[in-house]
Amino acid sequence: MTPDRRWITEAIRELKADSTRSADTHLLRFPVPSDWGVDLYFKDESSHPTGSLKHRLAKSLFIYGLVGGRIGAGTTVVEASSGSTAVSEAYFARMLGLDFVAVMAASTSRRKIELIEGYGGRCVLVATAGEVYAEAERIARDSGGYYLDQFTNAAVATDWRGNNNIACSIFEQMAGERHPEPAWIVSGAGTGGTTATIARYARYAGVATRVAVGDPEGSVFEEAWRTGRTDVTGRGSRIEGIGRPRVELSFLPSVIDWVQTVPDAASIAAMTVVSDVLGRAPGPSTGTNLVVALDLARDMVARGETGSIVTLLCDGGDRYSDTYYDAGWVAAQGFDVAPPLAALRERLAG
Ligand SMILES: *Cc1c(COP(=O)(O)O)cnc(C)c1O
Repeated sequence: MTPDRRWITEAIRELKADSTRSADTHLLRFPVPSDWGVDLYFKDESSHPTGSLKHRLAKSLFIYGLVGGRIGAGTTVVEASSGSTAVSEAYFARMLGLDFVAVMAASTSRRKIELIEGYGGRCVLVATAGEVYAEAERIARDSGGYYLDQFTNAAVATDWRGNNNIACSIFEQMAGERHPEPAWIVSGAGTGGTTATIARYARYAGVATRVAVGDPEGSVFEEAWRTGRTDVTGRGSRIEGIGRPRVELSFLPSVIDWVQTVPDAASIAAMTVVSDVLGRAPGPSTGTNLVVALDLARDMVARGETGSIVTLLCDGGDRYSDTYYDAGWVAAQGFDVAPPLAALRERLAG
């Protein structure tokens, strides 16, 4: 059955109007010792209306489903998520008057569940991150709904050529800097969609910028990138938003120049450092990004290179006040944050 065209046109107008009401996200300078000759920036994706970089992806996934004739009036929309995508999708589902179901691991932060429910979405919790896919598929099938499937569609639903995607926006905002063409852009990979968009855009735009990924413990992306294997599985990540227990189709290793495993304690320590230095508290995946960006900066300094590195502030720390920002919770998880925190502070002191 073909969904009603007038309804689709109206739905797409609504989604576009959300962009028209919004300003671009800021590119913030992150101060590092000036003798490095390397400049570091964070693109603050926490300032989207739904608080994370997933605002971009969720809108793209809805438009992709709408233009493909898969979403119409009354379609139940379903997603498998580690939380942030579902928050943004719940927001857009409510905007379009659609029922929304999020399937997530039971470990997902309480705050994200509250946000999804606050937007009128329903949360289905499964024991482990590896179980979300089949359950989301099942719910979509049983309800005659549509599975947005970010882990498959992220790399195809986003306009990588431009249309103010994240890459386009970064390059425009770098135009007035002393090193406008970043040597590196650093991101974590959850779907892998952000790195795919940035890397494709860089090739299309003809710039030399390379793309690096920080991968948390328990994720398979580093091994998949290093070995070329797509059948590796792992226990999954303890850094919300990034790292996966299987190699997702939307993760494109062929366009990624460097992948580095980052210890969880280092990610959490670096999250605290970003919060202290920028006065904006991020989530832990932003810490992972800082660790990789600082290692790349150190390598550039060692080779006598100057230039710029851009990375992302992926989401806000308010979502994690009872987890990564709670010292008791962090200690109970067995994360020893003090040593990496001291090391990071020493490096940044020059
Ligand atoms: C999804 C996500 C990422 C990674 O982005 P992808 O485009 O899915 O690879 C990083 N941090 C957070 C908090 C996220 O939710």
